[in-house]
Amino acid sequence: MNGISDTLRTSVIEYCSTIGTDPLLVQGAGGNVSWKEENTLWVKASGTWLAESAEKDIFVPVDLPHLRTAIETGDFSVTPRLRGESALRPSIETLLHALMPHRVVVHLHAIEILAHLVRVNCHTDFLSLLDPSIQWAMVDYHKPGPALASAVGTALTQNPNIEVIFLRNHGVVMGGANIAEVSQMLDRLTAALATVPVGLCNQPRPSLTESSHCDQYIPAEDANVQQLALNAELFNRLASQWALYPDHVVFLGAKAYAYTTWEAFGEEHNGKQELPELVFILGNGVFVKPSFNKAKSAQLRCYYDVLARQIPCLPAEGLTPAQIAELLNWDAEQYRMNLSK
Ligand SMILES: [Zn+2]
Repeated sequence: MNGISDTLRTSVIEYCSTIGTDPLLVQGAGGNVSWKEENTLWVKASGTWLAESAEKDIFVPVDLPHLRTAIETGDFSVTPRLRGESALRPSIETLLHALMPHRVVVHLHAIEILAHLVRVNCHTDFLSLLDPSIQWAMVDYHKPGPALASAVGTALTQNPNIEVIFLRNHGVVMGGANIAEVSQMLDRLTAALATVPVGLCNQPRPSLTESSHCDQYIPAEDANVQQLALNAELFNRLASQWALYPDHVVFLGAKAYAYTTWEAFGEEHNGKQELPELVFILGNGVFVKPSFNKAKSAQLRCYYDVLARQIPCLPAEGLTPAQIAELLNWDAEQYRMNLSK
């Protein structure tokens, strides 16, 4: 490896550990980063955390000409070929990185951007909010994998100068010659799209009240997350605006278990062996089973951050039942979730 490549790798790793610890930019194992080095695409491995890039080897080398040949023939289902041995699998979003012509590609589910991408009118909003010098495109929601890669491929064919691709109900892909360029772009986007989250209610810490099921649950630790049950407006969104983007569904399931009282929860679950891992009780709190892991906690915080930035009275647009189902039957995502436990 020559000096330039070493410098690039170092700057990528440094950048990943910085953004990886900011919950407004990266949530758990979400997001991925890559750089290209001659015939190799170095891409984040599936299930690994960007925040751990300095301590662990989270990047895997993939054969770039092999992917480009597949893309040229319209084969977006191609399985990336590793260059050398690795126990890790390349990210399920590897093709997005190969499609972008840039040396450095960063894909994130950044909150300030995602909060807009779940709104019906996000395209019109972006036209007025973003600096016209930014070359961007927006693609509709597609399941991560071949379908999404194909849509991104079409957008890039229509405008090869694109540097930013917004993925509706998902996130953003940015390309640049180096980390400084991409970092600057992310700063511009998040500044232009920044919104004010709803404030915290001054309510006491939730406590478990009388219920035969309470011994299975503990209050979620994050005070912001508690707002999902304590703030009536956020609570009212849980039923119809739950499945807003893929990682949320994969980690937290297809529906919210939200109830007006513990009694109402009891009525639905009395006699059932399996109780939900995450429960919302209006005005009482958000409760989890002790098995609720840190990857799920990160996703739940992400959901609060997105919901708290929605416009009152304007519903966020979620995934359809068919889109939810195809996400939950996906082996590659199951693999990633298990790795993140
Ligand atoms: Zn993604």
